[in-house]
Amino acid sequence: MTVGINGLTKIFEGPEGGEIVAVDDLDIDMEEGEFVVFVGPSGCGKTTTLRCIAGLESPTSGEITLNGEEITYEEPQNRNIAMVFQNYALYPHLTVRRNIGFGLKNRTDLSKEEIDERVDEVAELMGISDLLEKNPADLSGGQQQRVATGRAIVRDPEVFLFDEPLSNLDAKLRKHMRTEIQRLQEQFGTTSIYVTHDQEEAMTMADRIVVLNDGELQQIGAPTDVYNNPANRFVASFVGEPAMNFFDVKHENGRVEHEHFALEISDEMAEMLAGTEELVMGVRPEDLEVADDGIDMKLEVLEELGSDNLLYLSFGDDEMYIVETKPTVEPDVGETVTVRIREENLYFFDDQTGQTIVAN
Ligand code: ADP
Ligand code: MG
Repeated sequence: MTVGINGLTKIFEGPEGGEIVAVDDLDIDMEEGEFVVFVGPSGCGKTTTLRCIAGLESPTSGEITLNGEEITYEEPQNRNIAMVFQNYALYPHLTVRRNIGFGLKNRTDLSKEEIDERVDEVAELMGISDLLEKNPADLSGGQQQRVATGRAIVRDPEVFLFDEPLSNLDAKLRKHMRTEIQRLQEQFGTTSIYVTHDQEEAMTMADRIVVLNDGELQQIGAPTDVYNNPANRFVASFVGEPAMNFFDVKHENGRVEHEHFALEISDEMAEMLAGTEELVMGVRPEDLEVADDGIDMKLEVLEELGSDNLLYLSFGDDEMYIVETKPTVEPDVGETVTVRIREENLYFFDDQTGQTIVAN
């Protein structure tokens, strides 16, 4: 199934009147079998978009299509789309068997035995066969998540919608369930939209990432595309962990000046920056390295992650910059640390519009 979203807009009435534009003129075309991941800050319209696709919310304007056929105002039960909710939305008074079977309640063509059989198959697939007669309250978070996913799978839908399905699980279980969902998706090849605010989840799972902010599409592309060629400063700051560092700079003839340092950039970069004087320079934490000479900063915080260390540095004001280093680099907090910027990996953004001028 292909899914099309054309000019999708959803406006809610605010609590004191006024309008909340939750989704703003969104265009997305999904391919058959594609796994698309929506990312963006809280309140940017991810859930509302999914709810519109599922038919749980009625768009203010725009169009939703399935395989080219318009379904914008079709009743949810008439769309073969299954959604897995963040809080699982299991029925507390029903057993696991009946919760999973509930996904088939509209299927008058299936006998009770056939429904039982399909529930058994899905339970087996999800590794929850021994839980079928239990109630949701007796299950762990991970088990509830499996039941919620099972309830979606049992319908054999044409499209899966996942709304932050793993956000209530601890980190280890989240990683495990992530690979399970990927395995299921590969097995079924069902077109899926997956919402997360987890960087790593988005980067590792997505065929394409959709970055949203304030209800508006910022960029859509393969994870490496969005990472290497962010459309604007917002995308650059949102994709990549730890986040990109930004420096307010001025540029003139290949010389970039910050309040506390200056550097020379390549002729090629200088050419792309010609005509723009005020800029924001972006440097990823892995492109700042501790060196013998360079820019002197003060170490505010040292975060030891095991595989590497994060140094939080400042010029003595509120602004912090992050350097990612080897775990063996562990200067003392409060000391001066000298860093060098890897000039070949710089990004530059228009300081007014945030549009990317140079990426790599
Ligand atoms: P996300 O899932 O990205 O966090 P949502 O889609 O839940 O964002 O919300 C987008 C915006 O719409 C937010 O400002 C939210 O407060 C608002 N919103 C969502 N649902 C409603 C509603 N039923 N009534 C009014 N405002 C809503
Ligand atoms: Mg949400």
